[in-house]
Amino acid sequence: MAITDRHAATGVQTFDSVSPATGEKVGTFPVDGPEQVAAAVSRACQAARWWAGLGFAGRRRRLLAFKGLLARRGEELCDLIHLENGKPHDDAFIEVLLVTEHLDWAAHKAARALRPRRVAPTLLARNHSARVEYQPLGVVGVIGPWNYPLFTPLGSISYALAAGNAVVFKPSEHTPAVGRWLADAFAEVVPEQPVLQVVTGFGATGDALCRAGVDKLSFTGSAATGRKVMAACAERLTPVLLELGGKDAMIVDDDADLDAAARAAVWGGIANAGQTCIGIERVYAVDPIYDRFVEKVVQRAAKLRAGPGPDADLGPITVPGQLEVIRRHLDDALARGARALVGGAGAVHPPYVEPVVLVDVPEDALVMVEETFGPVLPVVRVHDADEALARANAGSYGLGGAVFGRRRATRLARALRAGMISVNSVQTFALVPGLPFGGVGESGFGRVHGEQGLRELSSAKALVRQRVRLPFDLTSFERPDRAVDALARLTRLRHAGGRRR
Ligand code: NDP
Repeated sequence: MAITDRHAATGVQTFDSVSPATGEKVGTFPVDGPEQVAAAVSRACQAARWWAGLGFAGRRRRLLAFKGLLARRGEELCDLIHLENGKPHDDAFIEVLLVTEHLDWAAHKAARALRPRRVAPTLLARNHSARVEYQPLGVVGVIGPWNYPLFTPLGSISYALAAGNAVVFKPSEHTPAVGRWLADAFAEVVPEQPVLQVVTGFGATGDALCRAGVDKLSFTGSAATGRKVMAACAERLTPVLLELGGKDAMIVDDDADLDAAARAAVWGGIANAGQTCIGIERVYAVDPIYDRFVEKVVQRAAKLRAGPGPDADLGPITVPGQLEVIRRHLDDALARGARALVGGAGAVHPPYVEPVVLVDVPEDALVMVEETFGPVLPVVRVHDADEALARANAGSYGLGGAVFGRRRATRLARALRAGMISVNSVQTFALVPGLPFGGVGESGFGRVHGEQGLRELSSAKALVRQRVRLPFDLTSFERPDRAVDALARLTRLRHAGGRRR
């Protein structure tokens, strides 16, 4: 994407968003610079005070109205996602389905999750009552990717709004129209103040948002950009939440339902043309069931087609540069002895990539270690579940994963180094709004969704209030020496034996 125009009268630079399938222009958007971003954040500061002042009930009513609007105009939104991102209409619908569930959950549960809680003081402050309150942060900056242009940013936006914050959202340069649609739709149900604003542009616009003095920055995108975001936010000590890439593994054990596992592997690895942060990018199947499992995967994957028509299972690769990454990973794997049982070297025909199933892939091939972000599924034979676990955990990412099996499944799920695991299904954790979403290692830190997501986008405040006056005050220069002596004796009595009394 490149700057396409400079408006003669205003000097505002603009860029076009185009359909990755047809090259058709979707819309023209301003390239917002630091000045425009700062102005949006300043407007948001004022809107945040108004929005916080509505309280949970007032916000719930408006968020549910927003949810209703998304559900009513879902078709229009799916058409736009299909046009701008390229994904099939049904896949766009899954995004609408997910965001309405999450919005509903966040709107209903925020008051309970963020209600003030009493905390029992210990001996030193027994005469006080103590509680923790969760207050809005103020303005949350959200930077989102293009692969799930609705679901991913709303994972932060819904929870930030429910917690009482205003939001300034920078969508990817590849999906600005979806971002603009969202902000316009929100303004229809909340016309009073600019509680949700969108700024558009390229990476520099995102960088400006990081430096604009927002109270928290929630970033979803690649690990490489995540590092830049964190460095930019460090300038003003702006706290960050990073939802980054993944290289999710699926383990198939010897007592797994192989049909279910094959269905899940094909969906998890190939749906959305593999452009899913929680996509299955590696499958480890144990030796006794390996051949039967691979056969079932191949049968299913071989039926899928990429293309422009309504019957296509996969849409185009949204970002042209990603085609080169996929081609490089494929060529590297084939050159190192991998065999393609579905697809192959010719699978990449821009802007599409046909599904590929690889076997005999060496563990250090690019397709096993770097995020491929294409419909390429390597299926690796391992001796047993423990070897599968060791290999799955060897990577630097740790976003999601899946385990198929019975006896050992829960143990394996716990031991997988990742933030989210589905047992006997794939990616299902994203369907449960109450569960936290996020990863470990190079997949980032912090959580969206669920109670943790609401608290992540709030400020925890500690409050103590004296209930009863004691004869002396520990936090005072006027306390008598004997008080310290008495406390020293008490400390020895309570703690020196090592056991809690
Ligand atoms: P990028 O990291 O390239 O971009 C993400 C966002 O950051 C875009 O809006 C981009 O703007 C913006 N950006 C680029 N440079 C900067 C900068 N220097 N400062 C601030 N913002 C910047 O990711 P993609 O859009 O390519 O998305 C794919 C990646 O996202 C994959 O790695 C995928 O795994 C990950 N992802 C993670 C998810 C999760 O929940 N963990 C969910 C979905 C995707 P622009 O596009 O205009 O350059």
